[in-house]
Amino acid sequence: MTDQAYLCLDNISKAYPLKEGTWIKTTAWLRAVNNVTLNIFRGETVGLVGESGCGKSTLGKIACGLDKPTQGEVILSGEKIGSTNDLLKSRKIQMIFQDPFSSLNPRQKVRNIVSEPMRIHKLGSKKEILDRTSSLLEKVGLSSIHMPRYPHEFSGGQRQRIAIARAISVDPDMVVCDEPVSALDVSVQAQILKLLKKLQQDLNLSYLFISHDLSVVKYLCSRIAVMYLGELVEIAAKKELYTTPCHPYTRALLAAVPVPDPAIKSRALLVKSEPPNPLSPPPGCHFHPRCPEKMAICSRKSPGLTHISPNQSVRCFLYE
Ligand code: ADP
Ligand code: MG
Repeated sequence: MTDQAYLCLDNISKAYPLKEGTWIKTTAWLRAVNNVTLNIFRGETVGLVGESGCGKSTLGKIACGLDKPTQGEVILSGEKIGSTNDLLKSRKIQMIFQDPFSSLNPRQKVRNIVSEPMRIHKLGSKKEILDRTSSLLEKVGLSSIHMPRYPHEFSGGQRQRIAIARAISVDPDMVVCDEPVSALDVSVQAQILKLLKKLQQDLNLSYLFISHDLSVVKYLCSRIAVMYLGELVEIAAKKELYTTPCHPYTRALLAAVPVPDPAIKSRALLVKSEPPNPLSPPPGCHFHPRCPEKMAICSRKSPGLTHISPNQSVRCFLYE
């Protein structure tokens, strides 16, 4: 018997209506996420990578109840979530966002920002909440002297620490991290990633870690899902993804990761052209117009998911 996933995103699709005109008529649907199935286990970190606009944030918001799928089920510890509101109320899955400059209310003191979720969920007396706020700040590398200050008094990295303290304040099982270090300097990125890793060990958290950067994902994640135009095209354990990437898109993403040693010439970028418009995705495999290995079938049919090994699945006709 396989262990039950903590969070199961079961065949999730999300389409946004595009509206136009005086009568606000829906003129088209933008399919941001298409038939995505992804399981996340207790204490596990799953990376979600892909280019900007491929649907990562949409899937992240659905995972924590901030958005509603058009189709599919969110299953938490084996139980179907009736409404996204139930998921939000359960406070078991929290989210941190890319931009610490806009995700924190500039008019609130750090004390109020960090304690707000605890107050909303009535997790203790005033005194208990205040004490916990102070210990949370210490847990993320700040201190109680920061409590009366405002977000603008902090650096980007410190603000992301405040956002992390707020996310873990309600004792979640899982945190959706939506590009949490993308806006930070490289040296600060490493500190925040280290903090997230430490918190995971201390609190047995699961993470869904969203990034467009495969080197960031490599540090934290045990499994990685690669997304292209709303679909998962490859899901693999870290070792398999970095040593034997299967999907041509995954290989292109890996080739684009900068090599730290200047003596090694950076490999040619496979994906040169711009990603296609999600409003009119190409027929067949969405990646075929940019694929260096495309075959005749790729523009006619959409490939299914092939299980290469227990640790690796890919959506590509090269493996069917
Ligand atoms: P990513 O996080 O990978 O950059 P997003 O999930 O933010 O991608 O967006 C996926 C697609 O859905 C994009 O084409 C984006 O323009 C579109 N989109 C996102 N949110 C909305 C919305 N509220 N209304 C309409 N389209 C949206
Ligand atoms: Mg995003």
